[in-house]
Amino acid sequence: MSSIQIKDLTFVPYISEPELLNAIDSLAQKINADYKGRKILFVGILNGVFMFASDLMKRIDLECEISFVKLSSYDGTHSTERVKQLFGLTESIEGKHVIILEDIVDTGLTIEGLYNDLMKQNPASLDVCTLLFKPEKYTKTTPIRYFAKTIGHAFVVGYGLDYDGFGRNIPSIYKLKTKN
Ligand code: 5GP
Ligand code: MG
Repeated sequence: MSSIQIKDLTFVPYISEPELLNAIDSLAQKINADYKGRKILFVGILNGVFMFASDLMKRIDLECEISFVKLSSYDGTHSTERVKQLFGLTESIEGKHVIILEDIVDTGLTIEGLYNDLMKQNPASLDVCTLLFKPEKYTKTTPIRYFAKTIGHAFVVGYGLDYDGFGRNIPSIYKLKTKN
C-alpha cells in the first residue's frame, strides 16, 4: 500500500481494515459478556465515530439503543484545549446503562467533559469505549474501560477520522508521515 495526500499533508498506511475489524470483534465480545442481561444506550461522539459505531453495534447481541452528541476540540492536527458542544442529547439517560463511543482518545479533554456531564444525569452505569487510545498523551483520570487499539503520538486519519474534514471515507487507518 502506498502513501496518500490530504490537502498539504502526506499519510502512510498504519492499521489495515482487517486488523481494525478483528479488534472490534474482540471488543464487542467483551461488551457482550460484561453487559449480559442489561440494555445498553450507546452515546456516540460525532463526527469521527460513525464508522466505528456502526461496525461495533452490528456485533452487539444484546438489546441496545444509540444516540449521538456532537463535540469538537481539534483544529487541523492539534487539540485546541477547548471542547465545543455543537449539539447534545435530547432524551434522558437517567437509570440507563450508558457506553460513550469515541473514535480516538488523545489528551482525554473531550471524553472527560462528556463523561462528567453524563454522570450528573444519574445513569445506572457509565463506561467509555474508544476505537483508538493514545495512552502516552492521556492526561486525565476518566477510566477508559474499552479500547480496540492503543497507538503512540501519531496523528491518524481514515475510518471516520479526518484531517480538516477530509479522509473520513478511507476504510483503514493512515498516520501522518514524519519528516526525516
Ligand atoms: P482529546 O480531547 O482526547 O485530546 O481529543 C479527542 C478528539 O480529538 C477526538 O475525538 C478526535 O476527534 C480528535 N483527535 C485526537 N487525536 C486525533 C488524531 O490522531 N487524528 C484525528 N483525525 N483526530 C484526532
Ligand atoms: Mg472525535
